Amino acid sequence: MQRLIGAHTSTAGGLQNALYEGKQLNCTAVQLFTASPRQWKPNPVSAEQIERFLQARRETGIECVVSHAAYLINLASPDSETRRKSYEAYLAELRRCAALGIRYAVVHMGSHPEFETGMQLLIENLRQLLAEMPQGVCIAMETMAGQGSALCYRFEHFAQILEALPDERLVICADSCHLFAAGYDLRTAETYEAVWQEFDRLVGLSRLQVWHLNDSKKPLGSRVDRHEHIGEGELGANAFRLILNDPRFVRLPMLIETPDEKRFAEDLAKLWEMAGD
Ligand SMILES: [Zn+2]
Repeated sequence: MQRLIGAHTSTAGGLQNALYEGKQLNCTAVQLFTASPRQWKPNPVSAEQIERFLQARRETGIECVVSHAAYLINLASPDSETRRKSYEAYLAELRRCAALGIRYAVVHMGSHPEFETGMQLLIENLRQLLAEMPQGVCIAMETMAGQGSALCYRFEHFAQILEALPDERLVICADSCHLFAAGYDLRTAETYEAVWQEFDRLVGLSRLQVWHLNDSKKPLGSRVDRHEHIGEGELGANAFRLILNDPRFVRLPMLIETPDEKRFAEDLAKLWEMAGD
């Protein structure tokens, strides 16, 4: 079995470069931005870009690619114009993913000062996206740290979405830093197991299809999202050992987004060692 361990690599100079960088870093999976993450309306991908990307995929042998949607996107925004732009931007993201053969488009769940209103706006946008999105792609909903008025930092919040929209194209991207900041303790075998029992009961383990592996600068339950290098934060190495050696997760893409990309190789080497491969 091939492990899918990698990093969020750079697309500077072309989408294909994320794959070549990933190959250099010994990645078997990569995450990338299919367009500038700070732009509302990037151009759709051209036939030439797609060709170069598919060629890089063949050359590097990296088949597992995950996209991360733009940070501007807030599908639950209280401002209707921002909400509409967010919808259009994420739909365009899903279309670019389909064109590039990328299965997962990770998205942040947005924020709203009134939690319940925000959840309803988010659910309505997701309902519309499911109706309009192309085939072959999934909406990968990221577990959030719960900073400010962010939605979806508790498993119950995802359960609420899935109850309204029981669609298998809605999947979960678990971020170890965000889970921990939100109050889910992954540090010991006992607390770790309790977290996944709860996840399974509320969401269902089969929904979890992507991992972001980041350590946390901030303590358990701080609800502050600050990534740290693997094993150097409040989460610590044992949590990553538990995740990497959990038979429920060994086939899932596991991607780092640690703060300094110059240290990606170091972080990845630690993960490969912990995975024992
Ligand atoms: Zn994210």
